[in-house]
Amino acid sequence: MQALEDDDDLDFENSDGDDDTGDTETDSNGSSDEFLREMSEKDEKIKSLVDMGFSEDEANMAITRCGDVDLWELVDSISASRITEDSHSRNLSDHQITDRCFDSFGGRKKARLMEESKKKRNRYGGRAQGNQPSLDGSHDEPMPLPNPMVGFNLPGYLQPSVTRILPKQDTGPPFFYYENVAQAPKGVWATISRFLYDIQPEFVDSKHLCATARKRGYIHNLPIENRSPLLPMPPKTIFEAFPHYKKWWPSWDLRTQLNCLRTNVASAKLTERIGRALASSDSPPARSVQKYVMNECRKGNLVWIGKNKVAPLEPEEMEYLLGFPKDHTRGLGITERYKSLGNTFQVDTVAYHLSVLKVMFPNGVNVLSLFTGIGGGEVALHRLGIHMKAVVSVEIRKANKRIFRGWWDQTQTGTLIEIDDVKSLTDDRIVSFVSRFGGFDLVIGGSPCNNLAGCNRYNRDGLEGEQSALFYHYFRILNAVKSAMARM
Ligand code: SAH
Repeated sequence: MQALEDDDDLDFENSDGDDDTGDTETDSNGSSDEFLREMSEKDEKIKSLVDMGFSEDEANMAITRCGDVDLWELVDSISASRITEDSHSRNLSDHQITDRCFDSFGGRKKARLMEESKKKRNRYGGRAQGNQPSLDGSHDEPMPLPNPMVGFNLPGYLQPSVTRILPKQDTGPPFFYYENVAQAPKGVWATISRFLYDIQPEFVDSKHLCATARKRGYIHNLPIENRSPLLPMPPKTIFEAFPHYKKWWPSWDLRTQLNCLRTNVASAKLTERIGRALASSDSPPARSVQKYVMNECRKGNLVWIGKNKVAPLEPEEMEYLLGFPKDHTRGLGITERYKSLGNTFQVDTVAYHLSVLKVMFPNGVNVLSLFTGIGGGEVALHRLGIHMKAVVSVEIRKANKRIFRGWWDQTQTGTLIEIDDVKSLTDDRIVSFVSRFGGFDLVIGGSPCNNLAGCNRYNRDGLEGEQSALFYHYFRILNAVKSAMARM
């Protein structure tokens, strides 16, 4: 059961190319001149860094400092030097700076960066690697997923709640909340955590709160005491959520909960094939037929809608399971609806974590929402009764923007500012938003998981993958907000 579920509930997005595709590798035109090749690689790196929002000077200096290292090393190094400057301007002691920046951001020495880079290449090299020794002994530590995956605490779980004390400079505001798939390739969460101030991820499987699984990691600096769940608590089993499916549910289908809702759904061909296999079988069907049918039902979250008849969940049912209002995504084409819902937050889970903001901000919050999607974070805040004074929302897909804007217009009175691409949210624009709104109380978002999720075998190339590398924008933007707010 566990093995099947683990394999089944990993998300992947359709790579149908409607997202901004960013850079592509350029060919060196077959030139055999090593110097020219190096120059063009250097230009490419500079271009990528500038696209990420760093200045050309910073990019050049980082390349001079670090030499021929991977892009992520350069990001690391620029970030380390930015934070060092920032810390000096905030009068942090050198000791603090060393602890917080160099040790955690890895910007100390070229030799160390080269070593890290080598490890990194191995890590994403496609072959399974053993644990490699690390110079500081920390970066290659595997980040084990807890079992049960209930995070620091969950309503109704008796497990002792975790206590954590964050260093003062990491506590909000701004509070931040970052999300991505729990089951990412090795080293990804360690890297994300290292960039996000070494804060440990909170791994939660939403099946502990609702009727469907969704294993996610969350890194945030919110307090974890005195959380409260959204009421009414959502149903935790399939039959509690959809009692009418009992009628046709065969006794040999032992599922009580659904697997993770994904961006793609089973085809009509498949459900037909299942129907035919069952129609030509005994009742109950032979074990081999049961096994085949159950395997497909688990994979596709199929439900029984008639005699020998299975079907995927309707988008409306997914909205309900994920904690959204009815018809939230209605109006989009069905494929678009599945895609948006497959990628979104499970609202009850996120709301449980965000619930602590309610007493802290009785007059409402200013939110910077990165990779807003269909607004899982905002729906969570709204359902908690937390007023959003202003939301600056960054989302590239037109379909998602339409859904989010539609929901906002119907439910909210605050200010909504929409930006298409995280890459265009420059540091200068961030500074101007910070001064206009008097700072952000919450920076929330989960960057694309396309290159991380398990089913995506073709371009599962980790955090450096084209889409997943957008994580670095989350980190860049959060740092820019922190710096701008520190100067306020
Ligand atoms: N948390 C969201 C979903 C996040 S999925 C929700 O609750 O619905 C990641 C989102 O990032 C997708 O909606 C995708 O369209 C968006 N995205 C991808 N590239 C982007 C970019 N360059 N700038 C802004 N958004 C982007």
